[in-house]
Amino acid sequence: MRLASEKYRLLSWISILLVTGFLTTIGASYIVSRDAIRQNVVEQELPLTSDNIYSEIQKDILRPIFISSLMASDTFLRDWIIAGETDMEQIKRYLKEVKEKYNTITSFMVSERTHHYYYADGLLKTVKENEPRDIWFYRVRALKTDYETNVDIDMGNRDTMTIFINHRVLDYDGNFIGATGVGLALDTMTDILDSYQTRFHRNIYFIDKDGIIKMTGKSMKDVHGSITALPGVSTIAKDILNRSSTPTQLEYQHNGVTVLMSSRFIPELDWYLLVEQSISDNVKPIQRVFIVNIIISAIVTLLILALTLFAVNRYQRRLLAIAGTDSLTGLLNRQAFEIVFQQAILDSERRGSPLSTILFDIDFFKLVNDNHGHLAGDRILQKIAALTKEAVRESDIVTRWGGEEFLILLQDCPLAQATTIAEKLRHIIASHDFELPGSALSLTASMGVAEYENRETLNSFFARADTALYQAKAEGRNRIVVSASTATAVI
Ligand code: GH3
Ligand code: MG
Ligand code: MG
Repeated sequence: MRLASEKYRLLSWISILLVTGFLTTIGASYIVSRDAIRQNVVEQELPLTSDNIYSEIQKDILRPIFISSLMASDTFLRDWIIAGETDMEQIKRYLKEVKEKYNTITSFMVSERTHHYYYADGLLKTVKENEPRDIWFYRVRALKTDYETNVDIDMGNRDTMTIFINHRVLDYDGNFIGATGVGLALDTMTDILDSYQTRFHRNIYFIDKDGIIKMTGKSMKDVHGSITALPGVSTIAKDILNRSSTPTQLEYQHNGVTVLMSSRFIPELDWYLLVEQSISDNVKPIQRVFIVNIIISAIVTLLILALTLFAVNRYQRRLLAIAGTDSLTGLLNRQAFEIVFQQAILDSERRGSPLSTILFDIDFFKLVNDNHGHLAGDRILQKIAALTKEAVRESDIVTRWGGEEFLILLQDCPLAQATTIAEKLRHIIASHDFELPGSALSLTASMGVAEYENRETLNSFFARADTALYQAKAEGRNRIVVSASTATAVI
């Protein structure tokens, strides 16, 4: 019992060590690879994408700014305003020419004196201060810089982005006399956003300074409204709207997946550019490696445990065989018997079945040694062991108790039956001719028989058997004495 628990403790320790070792190594390498991937996304991929898009925007904006600046410094335009805006055909032709030559969506001029809004088809309207759509003109009038950019999105399909450049027009003394400029479509922008989406699974979108989504690629076509209402993104909305034109690295969780984001404010548009990517795609291959490693480790652990169990069991059996048997007779020795006996008591108590013992000693054995030699004595002891084994059931345990003294443990056997068996054995020994070189010898044995009593100690049980044996010797040998619980009886 103790051996078994020690064996399982050894196996538990081996498993704990192996599992801890494997898990630590596999876990550490998984974390290191995942962090490296994540760091690469955060520090390289997202900022690079953001930079590329930003420079694309700057490149696209440069053209309309250049056109507007040319218009604002054009002497014809300025002279025409100063001269009193008389010939409408002239300004019409001029704006139409600009529009066609530069392939712009619109070209316009608003006069400060009359507040007339002219475009390629002539006079469109008169701008008014209290009209929300005309507010831009009053903003431009108060500008400290030469021009402003104003982005307009076709909200219908959100794939056309128009940039308006509103440029101040000054007379030759530097007084503000109007605003002019063009509106140019940035068709390429959405293509860029889509290509990043398909190639790198990166979401790119623009939000205004209040967090309202302004422009997205095709994959986010149905995403509208404020980022404060976007699941996951809403948790970092405050950090996004920080007006920082250097990219900010952020992350959020959505459906259990970590999404990394780079956000930057683009002053030219008064918008934020957001580039985001879930790291789950990048991490998937190392997750697969992780699982394969875990499976391999589990198999290795089980193999090691099986081998250890096999080896321990083999050695245990060998040790028990060496330590537990008597080398002369092959019977169990006294130490091994004690283990077996404990088990027998447990079985008997559990089943409520009787358990008896026969303790016997060869009479005058010393004489055999003295007359025929120790070797002959040994051979006779072997023969007695064999005779005893034959006389009892397979399940009964025969032990060499010491010297020429033997003990038989009879399981599921009441006292009366044990006495009968003892009598039978006594007869077998007494009637056997023990062979000696050139002669034969008769021997007798004295026996003590006892039945195990509930809750009796091991010592008390064998002491009773021993006392009975002693009594059999004292009463003349070659006989059986039965130990009763209260008294002993002689047959
Ligand atoms: P009794 O039991 O009838 O009183 O007389 P006995 O001569 O048998 O006395 P005792 O039990 O005291 O002596 C046991 C003898 O058995 C002593 C020893 O020489 C012998 N003996 C014990 N073990 C062995 C053994 O392994 N081989 C041999 N050959 N003899 C043994
Ligand atoms: Mg003896
Ligand atoms: Mg003896």
